[in-house]
This record gives sequence, structure tokens and C-alpha cells, in this order.
Amino acid sequence: MFITRFAPSPTGPLHLGHAYSALLAHDMARARAGTFLLRIDDLDQSRCRPEWEAQIFDDLGWLGLNWPRPVMHQSDRLPRYREALKVLWDHGLLYPCSCSRADIRAAASAPQEGVPLHGPDGVIYPGTCRHASPSTGPMPGDAVLRLDMARACAMLTSPLVYKEKGEIVTPHDLPRTVGDVVLARRDMGASYHLSVVLDDADQGVTHVIRGQDLAEATQIHVTLQRLLDLPTPAYHHHRLIRDETGKRLAKRDDARAIATYRNAGATPQEIRNMVGL
Ligand code: GLU
Repeated sequence: MFITRFAPSPTGPLHLGHAYSALLAHDMARARAGTFLLRIDDLDQSRCRPEWEAQIFDDLGWLGLNWPRPVMHQSDRLPRYREALKVLWDHGLLYPCSCSRADIRAAASAPQEGVPLHGPDGVIYPGTCRHASPSTGPMPGDAVLRLDMARACAMLTSPLVYKEKGEIVTPHDLPRTVGDVVLARRDMGASYHLSVVLDDADQGVTHVIRGQDLAEATQIHVTLQRLLDLPTPAYHHHRLIRDETGKRLAKRDDARAIATYRNAGATPQEIRNMVGL
């Protein structure tokens, strides 16, 4: 069985990097008589727009992709995300955090901390709120919740095996290399890490095909799968499409938007050629 997905956020136009990712996943599914799903990662409602979502459907259809409908929207799944948070909360693995970004930067760069360490989510959280408030009793409804990574890893008895080149991740290292990541955001209910893991599991995704920029986040996702008793799919992190200066493409880079090429008369095959497929 082969089920993969492309999960864009409707926060801007899809560019050549998205085209590559979606086409690659779609081609791989077709070659294995599998299923290609489209999922709309619209958790961050403050940045998502219906017109960008409509453009995603239009661009992907134009590229020749098809997928089963209706598609899953993260914005419909908050109860599911809260249910999983509650499981982690009841295991004593979450705690509320009231630090601002500036607080975290200041605490992480205090002289006794040495050079601030960076993990998949930026500066590693220095742990200020970890023991500040009790993580027992009812789960707070409207709070930032962090995963206590040291406690979480103490529950994982075997290494995380998922890397493409056969390397393994030792849970013991994660408190130092990843830290206490955010699993619930105040404005969105859940964080990307939690929602993506639950969505992939609930959709039966067997193969996650996505950009190299998300490779470091995968150790967080596999940790959550272990804690929540979910299967770990196979992960393939593909090369990134870069501009002529070597920078990876961004949503605001309209010049490389699929829509821009379409308007200029490009064909889907030309887009395939441009991304090296
Ligand atoms: N929505 C994420 C993004 O646009 C992708 C999530 C994933 O593939 O895991 O970067």
C-alpha cells in the first residue's frame, strides 16, 4: 500500500518548489498504483485566504494532478488535536508556557547559557516555564503548551529509526538537540508538529514526501508518533528548488509562482522540465 500527500498552506501562491514537491509525490504514487492526497494546512487562520486555496486547486489541476475529494482541512480538526493534547497532558508530558519570543532569546543568551543552541524550531527553549506551573489538573484551554522533552524521551525505550540513510536518532539526545517544542499555540489550538502527525496517521499516509527543509522536524514527528501510539510512515525529504543565487524559493517570490508561468504561456510539461522532472 502506498498513500502519500501534498499539504500546502494557503498563505500565498504555489511556486516551482511546491510544483516539484506535488509532482514528485503524485508521480511516485502513480508509479506504485498508490494514492495521492491533497491536504490543506490551514491551521494558521490569520494567514490563510480562501483565494489562495482556490488558486492551489487550480494550479495543481492545471499541472495534471488529481486527488480524492473532499480534501482534509486542518481548520476542521481542532477537536482531534485537543484530544491528542489531552492524552499527552494526562501523561504529565505538557506544561503551559507564557514566554514571549523576546523572553526566550534573552534567557537563551544569558551569559551562563553559553552560545544559544538552535534546533528545528529555532533557538532551543531554555526551560523557563518548565517547573513554573503545575502540569496536573485540567488542561488549560487557551495556553501555549510545550512538550517536556526529557520526560517524553524517558518514556521512549528504543531509538527512533526512520532516517533515509539508515542513521538512527537516540531519544536521549533530543532534550539537548530539539528541546521542549510547542504543541499547542494560543491562537491556533495546535502547532504544526502535532497536527501534521495526527493528519498523516488519520489519513493512513504510508510515505511522507516533502522538502529537505522539514528533515530536521521529522525527529519531533516520530517522537510524537511513539508517544501517541501511531505508526511511523516512511520519510523522503527531497532536494529544494533554488533561485539562481542559491536561495530557496519563498511564498512571496511571485516571480516563480506557478500562476506567473501559466500567465506567461508555459505548459505543464515546461514546469516539469524547469524543476528537473
Ligand atoms: N504545510 C507544510 C508546508 O507548507 C508542509 C507540511 C508537511 O509536508 O509536513 O510547509
